[in-house]
Amino acid sequence: LITVRGVNKFFGDFQALKDIDLDVHRGEVVAVIGASGSGKSTLCRCINRLETISDGEITIDGQPLPEEGRELARLRSEVGMVFQSFNLFPHLRAVDNVTLGPTKVRGISKAEATAEAMRLLERVGLKGKENNLPAALSGGQQQRVAIARALAMKPKALLFDEPTSALDPEVINEVLDVMTELAKGGMTMLVVTHEMGFARQVCDRVVFMDQGEIVEQGDPEQFFTAPQTQRARDFLSKIL
Ligand code: ATP
Ligand code: MG
Repeated sequence: LITVRGVNKFFGDFQALKDIDLDVHRGEVVAVIGASGSGKSTLCRCINRLETISDGEITIDGQPLPEEGRELARLRSEVGMVFQSFNLFPHLRAVDNVTLGPTKVRGISKAEATAEAMRLLERVGLKGKENNLPAALSGGQQQRVAIARALAMKPKALLFDEPTSALDPEVINEVLDVMTELAKGGMTMLVVTHEMGFARQVCDRVVFMDQGEIVEQGDPEQFFTAPQTQRARDFLSKIL
């Protein structure tokens, strides 16, 4: 569903991504792990066209990434993104954060979008919080609104960039539980995470990045018990 071929990304002279090849198949859940600065966020941002790539090719469902305009909006609706910092609109109630995209980009009526938003908010465990402003929600609740908002666009895939890193420990699991349900439901997901339990238990594959390269990828159990490269062993010895 997502293919990344020979992608390089430069910021000035600095090369943040080096010859990246990656496939995420339909229904697959892929964890991206690696040290700070290894290029994980940059990879997500390139896939969602928040950054332009310097060279190489990225396709979604066989289609190359659009440059701009209407096509770009369509891409963003097909590949949702959930950020570390939630990025909700602070002046909009939870339900309005969820209906905004469908009404503005997908041309859905307000009534239909609201009905769907109520269903999605219930699905992420936020029944009764629909009218709260983001400031009146916990971090974990805000992140679940952000997930509902991404789902409202009926995406083919979801990208998560450290969705639990900004959260207090006690609410991390409520977000991981929602993500686990999505994974079980067959959603295609690329998840940048420091939650090694999630990577190991929920994900189908682990991709390990270091200094802008994909150094190693494979079955999570194999990766965590018998990493193939010294760089992966060094990383794991620091975090586990
Ligand atoms: P973290 O775990 O800390 O989020 P990361 O793996 O997501 O790290 P990236 O944010 O992708 O890392 O950054 C990769 C490298 O690219 C870093 O060295 C960073 O400084 C650099 N970089 C990222 N964005 C820019 C930018 N807009 N301009 C210049 N350099 C950038
Ligand atoms: Mg990052």
